[in-house]
Amino acid sequence: MRALVVAGVGAPPTVTDIELPAPGPGEVRVRVRAAGVCHSDLSMTNGTVTPTYPLVLGHEAAGLVTEVGADVRRVGVGDHVVLNWAPPCRGCWPCRHDEPWLCAEAGTPSVARGRTAGGDPLHVTLGLGALAEEVVVGERAVIAVPAGLPFESAALLGCAVLTGVGAVTRTAAVAPGESVLVLGLGGVGLATVIAAASAGAGRVVAADLAGAKRELAMAAGATDFLVADDTLTRQVRTLTGGRGVDHAFECVGRATTIRTAWRAARRGGQVTVVGMGGKDDLVELSALEIFHSARTLRSSVYGSSDPDRHLPELAAAVLDGSLDLGPLITDRCGLDEAPAAFARMARGEGARTVVLFD
Ligand SMILES: [Zn+2]
Ligand SMILES: [Zn+2]
Repeated sequence: MRALVVAGVGAPPTVTDIELPAPGPGEVRVRVRAAGVCHSDLSMTNGTVTPTYPLVLGHEAAGLVTEVGADVRRVGVGDHVVLNWAPPCRGCWPCRHDEPWLCAEAGTPSVARGRTAGGDPLHVTLGLGALAEEVVVGERAVIAVPAGLPFESAALLGCAVLTGVGAVTRTAAVAPGESVLVLGLGGVGLATVIAAASAGAGRVVAADLAGAKRELAMAAGATDFLVADDTLTRQVRTLTGGRGVDHAFECVGRATTIRTAWRAARRGGQVTVVGMGGKDDLVELSALEIFHSARTLRSSVYGSSDPDRHLPELAAAVLDGSLDLGPLITDRCGLDEAPAAFARMARGEGARTVVLFD
């Protein structure tokens, strides 16, 4: 079967033949029907994250269960499922204290699974490797969803949507009438805009380096769009009575944008870092401004969500029409065209590309 594989740091993602093992006890095989191309996949190829190669990319997908190993209880053959890249173990300290998104066992960048057609050991992104015709995963990594949910919407629930919606509703708990700034309008950023608008935020300011994102931002529910240049924080202050926003969401994962989010938040405001950045990219804050600004700076890991609980809620919201994911998807393609999606993402173009499988 075919998968999108990267051979090493800086190598281009390439469609490659691979072999996966049969599902063992507690494992299932899923035929992937739709998979999103997420910025974290790009981070797996360009040195931001350091996984083990060769690596099957992809961690945001939905499909059909086609085979189950012994002792599988959560799903059966034919079930429609979303893949979960951070399945909580339910036994570690954070899991037992209602913070399963911080599970000590979850979120390993690459996990050994299967072989290349040449027989070399292969690794899969975040235990999934979902930009592939099939995955073999532990049953905790699949969440059943209603068969009526379109696969392309279901796929996005597994990363961009759970992350963006969770950051707004759970990590930051944005209240009606509050003002929000979202920096960086990729898939997660646009999901954050959608969530802020539907949480009743009074002003949702969306910003990106690319002016071409204006239309996407407004379709997602932004009240204002700003091109992220040197004047950004001043413009944000102008829009918010000179104060700055109640909530700034950083959906890029870079020190410079975290600084911008910090400066754009009002005194006493909240800064939520949603983007995943590099370990050597340092954010500089002075001791005086930390004290004087009284701001809160924190991150949102997987939307502070419990996927087993919150993902089915999001699926229901898509089905009843209260959550419209349309503005997130800017491109659809087959697996062979997926490398072009990485190039678009590296250039900062578009939002989500969804790879569709037959
Ligand atoms: Zn992702
Ligand atoms: Zn755990």
